[in-house]
Amino acid sequence: MEGIVDSHTHVSLLPFEGLESMALAGVRKIIGCSMFFGATYAETLFDHFHQMLTLSTSNAAKNGIKLFVTVGIHPMGTPENWPRVIDALPSYLNMSDVVGLGEIGLHEGNKREQDVLREQLKIAKEYGVPVIIHTPPQHRVEITEKTIEIAATVGIEPGKMIIDHANLDIINLIEDFGAIPGLTIRPEGLTPHLLLNHLERFPRGVLNSDYSNLKPNDPLGVPRAVRYLELNGAPPEIIARIARYNAEELFGI
Ligand SMILES: [Zn+2]
Repeated sequence: MEGIVDSHTHVSLLPFEGLESMALAGVRKIIGCSMFFGATYAETLFDHFHQMLTLSTSNAAKNGIKLFVTVGIHPMGTPENWPRVIDALPSYLNMSDVVGLGEIGLHEGNKREQDVLREQLKIAKEYGVPVIIHTPPQHRVEITEKTIEIAATVGIEPGKMIIDHANLDIINLIEDFGAIPGLTIRPEGLTPHLLLNHLERFPRGVLNSDYSNLKPNDPLGVPRAVRYLELNGAPPEIIARIARYNAEELFGI
């Protein structure tokens, strides 16, 4: 299909050839999410944001891909002086290629993570931007419930929230809240086969690769899923929604 959007990648970890492969497979827009594993200083994240907005944006453009960036504090890389990052986020949200906050959220779910998430959701609400929310591999139901509780307390519009790495275990929680399910294609999560068999539960979702070096990942996860769905008779209008239009509408891209 035309104009595929990968709604969640860690683009600073993506080789140039990965961008080329994505372009050849039909990806035209990418959302690059912030995540610097083990960051201990606010400046580390500022340099990370800068790299995405310069080098990664340029490399994507050289391959005919438009990169959009989300900034924020990932729970696996929260600096000691994280409030400094919170204070700087509004200045990034004023930049033209920055389309929201992410990847943010809870990984273990401790109080510090909850505080960091809450402060970022307050910024997203104030500036009316979308957020991309992480869900962890363990304690998924409890962590997702806690995330939704915090979001509800902050009062952010649920339709502006992608709750990512959705699967059969948390899809009802996401839908009941009114958030958008992020559909990360990977072998130990939502596979193309599982997606096909339960497609009626995910039509509001946004496909992504979540490409990083944290675990086995495939930069072609989205085009491969699209091809699998097409070859197995999935409705073209649903494929187009989850592979392109849902993300374009949410991010205004
Ligand atoms: Zn991610």
